[in-house]
Amino acid sequence: TVLVRGLHKSYGPTEVLRGVDLEVRSGEVTVVLGPSGSGKSTLLRTINHLEKVDAGYVAVDGELIGYRRSGDRLHELKEREVRRQRTRIGFVFQNFNLFPHLTVLENLVEAPVSALGVPRAEAVERARRLLDRVGLADRADAYPRRLSGGQQQRIAIARALALEPKVLLFDEPTSALDPELVGEVLDVIKDLARGGTTMIVVTHEIGFAREVADTVVFMDGGVIVEQGPPAQVLDQPQHERTRAFLSKVL
Ligand code: ATP
Ligand code: MG
Repeated sequence: TVLVRGLHKSYGPTEVLRGVDLEVRSGEVTVVLGPSGSGKSTLLRTINHLEKVDAGYVAVDGELIGYRRSGDRLHELKEREVRRQRTRIGFVFQNFNLFPHLTVLENLVEAPVSALGVPRAEAVERARRLLDRVGLADRADAYPRRLSGGQQQRIAIARALALEPKVLLFDEPTSALDPELVGEVLDVIKDLARGGTTMIVVTHEIGFAREVADTVVFMDGGVIVEQGPPAQVLDQPQHERTRAFLSKVL
């Protein structure tokens, strides 16, 4: 379970998150929608503590992210500790961010070995299983630049899974792809959803949200304007801002 409570985040005078509460239960998929600048990426980045928050907290399976509680005080964790926590919070970016100088297989093996101390042979075996899962077992020895964008993104997803994360965060995973490559990436995410992977997905793919989300969250101006099952938020939005947004993207 990912628990987000009372998150506030400012950049200088601009308050980008203005009190965000969110709960994503284990095995569930939450899709986050919202206009540009509404704070979606910032929310994801605060969940894995790439950004520090000004107030509020994030907990994953009961573990505070970025802080340690002692009494009623919060103390910041050391960077090494935060990195350890981050390995369990997978992040898939818009632009894949694969290591260009490593083969596909090495992209999947590197972090489990170096960050978690998984024996190499075991990491390789796990990597091959994951490549099979995303339909790219035959590309293990290729370098990322030789792959299509859709293939690179499927590798990026497999790489995140290699760390056995408690939750996977996706920030517009298909928006950098040519239209004909979007489907293959969404299919992989759908497959993970069916398999019970806990996910928070920022996307503008409304059809995907309708099919896969347990909860759809609509953000605007740094707050969650409304949230609920897809049939409710997408088909019977309660707020004018949600209706206005949907009328533009549908
Ligand atoms: P998009 O759909 O365009 O990706 P978003 O909903 O992901 O938008 P954010 O990237 O979270 O929005 O940005 C929210 C606001 O915070 C924007 O006004 C943005 O300019 C501002 N912002 C984000 N990151 C920073 C930063 N590092 N420094 C200053 N301002 C920032
Ligand atoms: Mg964004």
